[in-house]
Amino acid sequence: MTAEPADLLRSTFGHESFRGHQQAVIDRVLAGGQTLVLAPTGSGKSLCYQVPALCLPGVTLVLSPLIALMKDQVDALTRRGVAATFINASLSRREREARYAGLARGDHKLVYVTPERFRKADFCDAIARSTVSLLAVDEAHCVSQWGHDFRPDYSRLAEIRTRLGNPTTVALTATATPEVQADIVAQLGLAPADVETFHEGIDRPNLTLEVEEPYDTDAKLDAVQRLAQPGTIVYFTLIKTLRTFSEPLRDAGFPHLNYHGDLDRFQRRGVQDAFLGNGMSGDTPCVLATNAFGMGIDKADIRAVIHAELPNSLESYYQEIGRAGRDGSPSTCTLLYDQRDLATQMEFLRWANPDAGFYERVVHLIEHDHDRIHGDGLEHLRKQLLGKRWKHDRRLDTALAMLERHGVLSPDSAWRDEDHPRLELVGELPAALLDPVALAEKLRRGQEKLLALVNYAKLESDVERKAYLNDYFGV
Ligand code: ADP
Ligand code: MG
Repeated sequence: MTAEPADLLRSTFGHESFRGHQQAVIDRVLAGGQTLVLAPTGSGKSLCYQVPALCLPGVTLVLSPLIALMKDQVDALTRRGVAATFINASLSRREREARYAGLARGDHKLVYVTPERFRKADFCDAIARSTVSLLAVDEAHCVSQWGHDFRPDYSRLAEIRTRLGNPTTVALTATATPEVQADIVAQLGLAPADVETFHEGIDRPNLTLEVEEPYDTDAKLDAVQRLAQPGTIVYFTLIKTLRTFSEPLRDAGFPHLNYHGDLDRFQRRGVQDAFLGNGMSGDTPCVLATNAFGMGIDKADIRAVIHAELPNSLESYYQEIGRAGRDGSPSTCTLLYDQRDLATQMEFLRWANPDAGFYERVVHLIEHDHDRIHGDGLEHLRKQLLGKRWKHDRRLDTALAMLERHGVLSPDSAWRDEDHPRLELVGELPAALLDPVALAEKLRRGQEKLLALVNYAKLESDVERKAYLNDYFGV
């Protein structure tokens, strides 16, 4: 071993002492133990594999679901003089090859990739020539088919571990129900008895959890106006609702900015900078946002998070309110619960769960209507599949995304391009998308998660709500 964890913590990372379970997790990982870490966002999970990476010989391979997160982490490590890199599709071919060569030579202590990278033969060659001492699976809830954001390549992790020679493995996530925890262990191909779980708990004592039930939209608007302050995030599910709230607030002289997926990259950046205090003006605005607002919002002193619409699960809700009060000072999270908002989420669930027949029809049309799709864009597909409701229904988007994830559509398919989609079939429909029992089960789980949030909304007090969250996340 080249360095002591405590020394590295100070010299490389500039922190005085370990927090929470960091020390215990690091000790266990260095002793070769398989480990599952559950700790809130912002609690410092990254150090649990970054410090061991610098102590162990060979390379630590970090599986991370998001390219954007990877780059930030690697930049931060590089600034601290750590030999870290990422390999993803954003790199030029030449740069990628250089990094493959570096990986094979053992130049890097940490290499960040998405699990999809294992589809690439040249990456697998490079990894076969390197020595992986530690496999870190970040945002490990993606591993579970019952977690949110499930990605099919995550279900190949047992195979990936075998390919790597079954290295010591640490999986980390902020939120996982007991069922999801068990599934993570199973999907990694680990024996439950070999895994030690470190559960930091999910309690955020400085957060007060409130629920209000406004009786109509005006009452909801009043509540937002009463509860929101500078630096508050008000979350919406639909851009449409966000806009209907923004207008009267603006008329009432209530200062705020809007953040949602219809803005371009620069507009979004502008809002984010203003919120983080990097903008030109001094005051932090209140932001009305969809759930697109969150990643990279590392702001310690958010005093209030308001949900003007119901999110899709207790997991999402907990994740979004987790942005409040990172500095430990009192903060309030208010869910404005209107039963009618349930309809929106029920519809989303339906769109997120096309049935087997729908998948078959999509594949059939891509096969046979190639020229029409090419000429008229996705509109043609939508009309064929959905009839009169084609403008409204998002099932095709889900289906195309799933087909790409499951390798039915080529990874180069430009299916998000409405007018000029390139839809190339390269595989067969997998059993997972054809089995009515499995598809129904997936829908049922989605409904259950939504129901858990509805039940949460009916609780009477902060104490009850916290107990309910603990119970749900198995603390
Ligand atoms: P997570 O992955 O759990 O969301 P991160 O690993 O991204 O959290 O860390 C969040 C922040 O906490 C980072 O800014 C990191 O530098 C800081 N941090 C981590 N460990 C410590 C520590 N022991 N002492 C002080 N700050 C820490
Ligand atoms: Mg993290």
